[in-house]
Amino acid sequence: MAYAAVSIAAMFSYRHAFHAGNHADVLKHITLLALLKYLTQKEALTVIDTHAGAGLYRLDSDHSHTSGEAQEGVLRLSAALHDKPGAEVAPAIAGYLDLLAGLNPDFGASHDPAALRVYPGSPFIASQFLAGRHKLKLFELHPTDFRALSGNIGQLELGRGAACAMQDGFEALRPLLPPPSRRALVICDPSYEMKTDYGRVSAVIGDALKRFPTGTYAIWYPLIPRPEAHDLPKKLKTLASRAGRAWLDATLTVKGSKLHKTVDGETLRPGLPASGMFVINPPYTLHGELKAALPQLEQWLGQDHNAAHCLSQGS
Ligand code: SAM
Repeated sequence: MAYAAVSIAAMFSYRHAFHAGNHADVLKHITLLALLKYLTQKEALTVIDTHAGAGLYRLDSDHSHTSGEAQEGVLRLSAALHDKPGAEVAPAIAGYLDLLAGLNPDFGASHDPAALRVYPGSPFIASQFLAGRHKLKLFELHPTDFRALSGNIGQLELGRGAACAMQDGFEALRPLLPPPSRRALVICDPSYEMKTDYGRVSAVIGDALKRFPTGTYAIWYPLIPRPEAHDLPKKLKTLASRAGRAWLDATLTVKGSKLHKTVDGETLRPGLPASGMFVINPPYTLHGELKAALPQLEQWLGQDHNAAHCLSQGS
C-alpha cells in the first residue's frame, strides 16, 4: 500500500509544463510531425495519444521559467537559426518551425526565440492534421492538465473528430484496438516518473501488437543511467521482431550524464541528457526524414562533446 501511495504522489508531481519545449520534446514532436504528414495522406487514421498532457503550453509561464528546460530545446534551436535566412534546414525541422510560426506570429521566418510564447504539445500537433475523416483520441490522468487539455482542444472546434478522457492511457488503449478505421497511430509518451511505467509500456505495446499488428506505434523514452530505461528499447525491438514488424529507433544526446559538484559541495546530476523515439511500423519516409534532421539537431542542440545521435532500424 505504501508503494502505491508513493507512486500516485509521483505521478501527480509530474507536470509537462515544466518540460515543454525541452530537447526531448523537439525530437518527439519533429518525429510526430513526420509521421502525421505521411499517415494522414491516405485513408482515415485514428490517432491515439495515451499520455496527452495539456495540449498547449506557455513558454513565458512561471512553470517554464522555473525549469528553464525550453532553453535547452526549442529556444536553443531557434537561437541557432535566428536571422539566418539562408540556413539549410532539414525538411522535418522546417515543418516544425512552420508549426511554431503558426502559433507565434512574431516568430515568423526570423526564428527569434524571444517571440516564442506558445508551445504545442502532441494533441495540438495531431489536431493540425485532423481535417475530415481522421479521428483523435486523447487520454490524460492529471486533473489540472486534463482540464487544460479539454479547454485547449475544445477551442479548436474539432467536433466529434476529437475526444479527451481523464483515464489511464495504458488501460484505455486495449479496447480501442483494432480501430474501425483499421489504420492507427498510437503515441505513447509517459513521464516515467514511476518506475512501473517502463514495464507498462512494454506490456501495453506487446498486447497492442497482438491485437493490431499493423498499427504504427511511436514510443518516447528517456536515455538515463537506470536499468529500466536502458532495457526498454531492447524490449521494444524484441517485441517488434517477434511480431515480424519493422521498427526504427532515433536517439539524440545533448550532453553527458556525469554527476558534478556545486561550489557548495552538493552533488548534482545534470537534467535529462538524452532521449529516444522508438517507432514500430514506421512509414518508409521516416528514416530519410530523420537521417537529414538528426545531425542538425545534434549540431544545434548539443551542449558538450557528448552530443550524439543514432538512427537504427530493423524488421
Ligand atoms: N505527450 C505530451 C506532449 O508531447 O505534448 C506530453 C505528455 S507528458 C510526457 C506525460 C503526461 O502523462 C503527463 O501530463 C501526465 O500527467 C500524464 N499521465 C501520467 N500517467 C498517466 C496515465 N497512466 N494515463 C494517462 N496520462 C498519464
